Amino acid sequence: MRIEMLGIEKWYRKKQVLNGLEWRLEPGMYGLLGKNGAGKTTLMRILASILKPDAGEIRVDGSPIRDIKEYRRRIGYLPQEFAVYPEMRVTEVLEYLAVLSELPRAAYRPRIKALLKQVNLEEQAAKRVRQLSGGMKRRLGIAQALLTDPELLIVDEPTAGLDPEERIRFRSLLTASARDRIVLLSTHIPGDVEAACGQAAVLDGGRFLFRGSCRELAEKAEGKVWQLEVPAAEEETWRQKCEVLEIQGQGKELRLKILADKAPDPKAERCGGNVENGYMVLIRSQEKGGLG
Ligand code: ADP
Repeated sequence: MRIEMLGIEKWYRKKQVLNGLEWRLEPGMYGLLGKNGAGKTTLMRILASILKPDAGEIRVDGSPIRDIKEYRRRIGYLPQEFAVYPEMRVTEVLEYLAVLSELPRAAYRPRIKALLKQVNLEEQAAKRVRQLSGGMKRRLGIAQALLTDPELLIVDEPTAGLDPEERIRFRSLLTASARDRIVLLSTHIPGDVEAACGQAAVLDGGRFLFRGSCRELAEKAEGKVWQLEVPAAEEETWRQKCEVLEIQGQGKELRLKILADKAPDPKAERCGGNVENGYMVLIRSQEKGGLG
C-alpha cells in the first residue's frame, strides 16, 4: 500500500488546524511528532476516515478513496482513548470487534488466538478488561487494530501512561508489525520515534516543519549541541542563560547538554545530536520565527 496526502486542510469553525499537508507513506514505520495541539490527532482521524478533510485528498496506491468500507478494511486504528466495556473479557472484545468488521467466524477464531500470542496477552485471554494494567490495555488495543491484518496501522500516542518497561515492549511490538505494512504512530515523545521509527515528520501549528528519515532529523541539531561541565551550584544560572537539554551527574560537578548556535562557553565541546535535539532545534527556530 502507498498513501499520499495531498494538500490536506482542516478547519474547526474559523480555526485552521491543518494547513496544506503533503506526505507520502510506504511500508515501514513512521513517527509523527508534535506538541499538544499541533494537529496530530486530527490528521490521524482523517487518515482513519473518521474525519473528512475540508480540502485536499488522500490517495491510496495512486487513486482517491472511493469505497470507504473497502478502505476501512485495509486499515487499523488505535485511538488515544481506546475504551471498551470493562466487564467484557479480552477474547470477547476481539470477537465482538471481529463480527463488527464482518470477518468470517472460521477466520477470526484462529486470528484472535494468534494475535493474543503476538501481543503477549494469552494468559489474560479470559480476564475482564477492567482487570488489565495500562500496558495490557494498550496491547489489547493493538490486537484489535491488527484484527483485519491491515496494510496501514494508525496508532495515536501509544505510550502515554505506560511505565518504561511497558513502553519498550509496546514499541517492539509495533516495530515487529511494521515489517510488511505502514505503521504510523503519533507522539510528543521524540525518544519513542528515535527508538522505533525509520522515518519521521514534525507537525507544528498544522504545518509540517520536517519530513524525512530520523537520521536527517537528528542532523538538524548538527553543530548545535554542546557538552559542558559546570559546578552544581551554577545549574540554575545555566538554565536561565541557555537552552539546557539534559543534565547528567550528581554531586559537585554536572554535565550539561546545551542547544546553542555558538559555543556557550570556551570550555564547551561539540557533541552529536539525536532525534530529540533535532526536534528541539526545529521547534525553537519556529518559535523564534513566530516572535520575529
Ligand atoms: P494534537 O493531537 O497534536 O494534540 P489535535 O489534532 O488534537 O492536536 O488538535 C489540533 C487543534 O485543533 C487544537 O488546537 C485543538 O484544540 C483543536 N481541536 C481538536 N479537535 C477539535 C474539535 N472537535 N473542535 C474544535 N477544535 C478542535
